Amino acid sequence: MRKKVLLIGGGMAGLSAGAYLQMNGFDTEIFELNHTPGGVCTAWKRGDYTIDWCIHWLVGSGPSDSLYERWNELTDMSHVEVVNHEEFMRVEDLQGNQLRIYTNLDRLQAEMLEKAPEDAEKIREFIRACHEFAQMEMPNGEPMATANLWHKMKTLWKMLPHLGALGKYSHVSTADYAQGFQNPLLRRAIGHLFEPEIPILFCMMTLAWMHKKAAGYPIGGSLQFANRIANRYEQLGGVFHYDSRVKKILVEDDRAVGVQLANGASYRGDYIVSAADGHATIFEMLEGRYTAPEFEHYFSTGKTFPSLVYVALGVGRTFHAVPHSYLFPLKEPLHIDPETEIHDLHLRVHHFDPTLAPFGKTLLSTMIETRNYSYWQDLQRDTPELYEAEKQRIADEVIRILDHKIGDVRDFVEMTDVSTPATLIGFTNNWKGSFEGWLVTPETGFKELPHTLPGLDHFYMCGHWIAVGGGIPTAMMSGRNVAQLICKKEEKEFEV
Ligand SMILES: Cc1cc2nc3c(=O)[nH]c(=O)nc-3n(C[C@H](O)[C@H](O)[C@H](O)COP(=O)(O)OP(=O)(O)OC[C@H]3O[C@@H](n4cnc5c(N)ncnc54)[C@H](O)[C@@H]3O)c2cc1C
Repeated sequence: MRKKVLLIGGGMAGLSAGAYLQMNGFDTEIFELNHTPGGVCTAWKRGDYTIDWCIHWLVGSGPSDSLYERWNELTDMSHVEVVNHEEFMRVEDLQGNQLRIYTNLDRLQAEMLEKAPEDAEKIREFIRACHEFAQMEMPNGEPMATANLWHKMKTLWKMLPHLGALGKYSHVSTADYAQGFQNPLLRRAIGHLFEPEIPILFCMMTLAWMHKKAAGYPIGGSLQFANRIANRYEQLGGVFHYDSRVKKILVEDDRAVGVQLANGASYRGDYIVSAADGHATIFEMLEGRYTAPEFEHYFSTGKTFPSLVYVALGVGRTFHAVPHSYLFPLKEPLHIDPETEIHDLHLRVHHFDPTLAPFGKTLLSTMIETRNYSYWQDLQRDTPELYEAEKQRIADEVIRILDHKIGDVRDFVEMTDVSTPATLIGFTNNWKGSFEGWLVTPETGFKELPHTLPGLDHFYMCGHWIAVGGGIPTAMMSGRNVAQLICKKEEKEFEV
């Protein structure tokens, strides 16, 4: 008889776990609190515009990286049109000097050397390391928990030539590494590649993937990509329950046996997988009765990716001359909330995806980070008029800044949309409104937290609260790993 698996959460991790389990002869049902799949990998419509929230780059988008094969297991990647940008980002300083972070490493080296000849040695070291990581294949076949000794040896053997570089660059933060450049524009550019706390290794690997055209953007955007996987899941026989918030994981004799929804309905299964927020899973759905030392440590001291105020504008004109990813300093700091003020604006001009705006018009967006999620939640709950007014104030400020910087924005704005940490939490329930789970730092490394909880049988977890560093492919792989673990438990060969 086919075993039944109930999955909580239809983000990338839940979709992946569900699809792989279906491929392996399990009957699965996904309970998703929203009316759409994808979790944070999402988009929404406002009039004629699609506000694409998530995918900036999708690792595995091209066949030069083995993650492409993993994506191909879930959707036919030959049907996904991918844009590989020439520039990762353009960075400007207060004097108007610009550095183009090209995705081609040789062009990037030439650009860096031209702008900062005094840093020649450091630039060459940086580019050499990126090239090395472009040669490296990250192991993504089998989780270490199910791999046999031969597989483990093979993995280690493949990684052996890169262990030195991996060790060196995983132990220095992006901010600290950037300080090693003398040139202020280079310091600024490298320091802004991603979060300042993350290891420089993360940035080097991203540039390496982009160099080999394996980290592009799928035309159609985030929700369309998530929908492709959701469709495959349904074609494989998987069942969705949308608008279904799981309130409790049902446990009998230390074995997970079902889920209870917020509306009171209960469902029983042979295995329960939570691909939802990690904190809510352990402390609410399981009422804190089962945990693991790693989770206790992380939930008390771990740092999360920040939350976001995301401003999107639909503008009735084109901006072909403006780079798609443009970081520039503000003349005056912009106040976001009582704990947050920003000194730079990172503009995204979505002109590379014609599906997001009508012809001749453009979607602009900016992703503003804040850790003050509770302020936005309180404001939304207690003073909704003030909440709306604050959102409008920030949108107006962004329009004013852009009007000045790239010209003719204000008079052409047709659509304004501001989402806040309260939106992110209301939509996906991610702890503290984090947009990517646990922040990877030199102290944490790219670690996997346990997929199981000691003392609780037939229960598994996956997603960006298990895989430190988060990201779409990581969430997908984490779901695949759980499918492999369940196959192992059932003594079945894992097949795709
Ligand atoms: C703005 C933004 C930009 C990003 N850019 C990139 C990028 O360019 N590249 C990249 O690789 N990654 C990016 N990320 C990160 C990446 O999208 C995430 O790390 C990844 O998608 C997480 O997937 P997940 O399935 O683990 O979690 P989630 O997407 O959070 O999915 C969890 C799901 O569980 C559901 N859920 C929660 N609680 C319950 C409950 N009680 N009952 C039922 N369902 C529940 C939620 O609604 C959600 O659908 C970005 C994220 C954001 C927000």
